Amino acid sequence: MTLEITFLGTSSMVPTKERNVQAILLDYNGELLLFDCGEGTQRQMNIAGFSRARVKKVFLTHWHGDHVGGLISLIQTIFNGEYHDTLHVYGPKGTKLRLEHLRKSVDFENEIRLEVHELNPEPREIITAYEGEEYLVECTPMRHGTPTIAYAFVEKDKRRVDMAAAAKHGLKTGPLVGKLQRGETVEFKGKTITAEEVTYVRTGKKVALIPDTTLNDAAPLLAENADVMICESTYGGEHEEKAAEYKHLTAAQAALIAQQAGVKRLILTHFSQRYTSVNHLLDEARTHHPNVELAHDFYRVTV
Ligand SMILES: [Zn+2]
Ligand SMILES: [Zn+2]
Repeated sequence: MTLEITFLGTSSMVPTKERNVQAILLDYNGELLLFDCGEGTQRQMNIAGFSRARVKKVFLTHWHGDHVGGLISLIQTIFNGEYHDTLHVYGPKGTKLRLEHLRKSVDFENEIRLEVHELNPEPREIITAYEGEEYLVECTPMRHGTPTIAYAFVEKDKRRVDMAAAAKHGLKTGPLVGKLQRGETVEFKGKTITAEEVTYVRTGKKVALIPDTTLNDAAPLLAENADVMICESTYGGEHEEKAAEYKHLTAAQAALIAQQAGVKRLILTHFSQRYTSVNHLLDEARTHHPNVELAHDFYRVTV
């Protein structure tokens, strides 16, 4: 199992010399899940060394330009290449119509296979946007003045065989071990062996992504006990009024959500371009949570 996060853009609103606008790639066992796709995301993927053909799902948080400005060009490039799958795009209310407009805005020579999933959870409601065998993606609404969704990638718990314990019963890999791994009880050489005796459950990983929002109580609910919580942190405490006016979070507010949610690790991103250094945001956040990092473009995190 490999789960790696790469920040492709960490600025809010406009790109700076050091930071591009929003996009976060989650690489789960080689499958790429892209969260937002600001302008210039394709080039950031080139620099980071990711093939666009590996992107299978795109999750949009909301339709502000810094989060979707690179979407149509990414779609065009994907289907100009050797892409045989359907690209699944998830987003808040209005995503279907907006994508239709986007598709009409450029000429496509190739067939494009898009499946658009519009997500419309009620306030404070957590719904499943996607569920597969290995993981699911949950979402809940934020408060940002336009329909906005926060996501959580939740890997499923997995039962693993303790081969040393199995060997004590004389068991080697084979169909019986397979049954035990599925939680079943087996008979072997006249003895009953239960799954509990020779297996253990490996808890799945959880990554929460809290995008543009004001403080709200759905965010800590969604992020509860996450291994990593990525959170917007547009402003420092000196701009708290601006944060409220433009419906964004300060670093301390982001850390408060992380503290309430009991997350292990907090990574701040989506910084206002006004700051040449964001180190004071780190100090502010650390007053509420002990384990905080600042994202920068191409920052990679193994979960
Ligand atoms: Zn934004
Ligand atoms: Zn926004």
